[in-house]
Amino acid sequence: MALEPPRTLSPSKVAAFTDCALAFRFATIDRLPEPASPWATKGTLVHAALERLFTLEPAGRTVAAALTCLDDAFTALRLDPEYVDLRLSIEEEAAFLDDAERLVRNYFRLEDPTSVRPIGLELMLDAELGGVRLRGIIDRLELDDNGELVVVDYKTGKAPPERYENGRLDGVHFYSLLCERNFGRRPARVKLLYLADPLEISTRPSDQSSRGIERKVGAIWSAVERACERDDFRPKPSRLCDYCAFRVYCPAFGGEIAEGVRVGVEMRSAATVADLATAAAAH
Ligand code: SF4
Repeated sequence: MALEPPRTLSPSKVAAFTDCALAFRFATIDRLPEPASPWATKGTLVHAALERLFTLEPAGRTVAAALTCLDDAFTALRLDPEYVDLRLSIEEEAAFLDDAERLVRNYFRLEDPTSVRPIGLELMLDAELGGVRLRGIIDRLELDDNGELVVVDYKTGKAPPERYENGRLDGVHFYSLLCERNFGRRPARVKLLYLADPLEISTRPSDQSSRGIERKVGAIWSAVERACERDDFRPKPSRLCDYCAFRVYCPAFGGEIAEGVRVGVEMRSAATVADLATAAAAH
């Protein structure tokens, strides 16, 4: 039976489909939950701290202010299920916060935030491309000294080896395309700031890179539609399987796709019943 394709495509969905079509299906179409991970939650925390930093006046964007922003962001996060579900011990929480602080301090080794002119923080943009709605959240959009747009994406994981850099830039080229569609201007530069190393990878978008990302996203969308029509999402075993939340349902590891689909249906109908009960109680 044909499946309903997702309504939007984002850089993370493009990467997920490319990495493994079956894991993409479980996450995006069956909407099976993925357990919280300390790495992802630390990324959320550090992004929130840097977002707060850039709401301050330029002269106030010091290391001390950034650490206060980190404290405030943690106060907001610590009651969120994304953090609570990690169930960290006191020692693990201390290590988690030490590492988040290291990432925030490393940020200052990459650039001087007092000279940054942000015009958008955690900026959600979308645009239509060949029958699909592209959607992305830009960590920071800023103006350079010439008044040109610059897209900045923070990364809290390690930088990829040099030979994989172009692939990693696909995400920021996607954001550049969204800027072109929304503002009628192509950014002069797109930057990835790898806070763990720390390392900056940047490039200048061009006609060629814009056409390249349009072609790539169009091809991925066609492949997603085809896979949905045929209900044919294949596993693609790789090192990522070690971290995959859906391994138990994966035929490459002796699981059954149908079982994952069944669990997804059950969870979605339980969520609908809970929503209806909440709505009824509110009346
Ligand atoms: S275990 Fe590996 S092959 Fe199977 S769904 Fe997950 S990432 Fe794909």
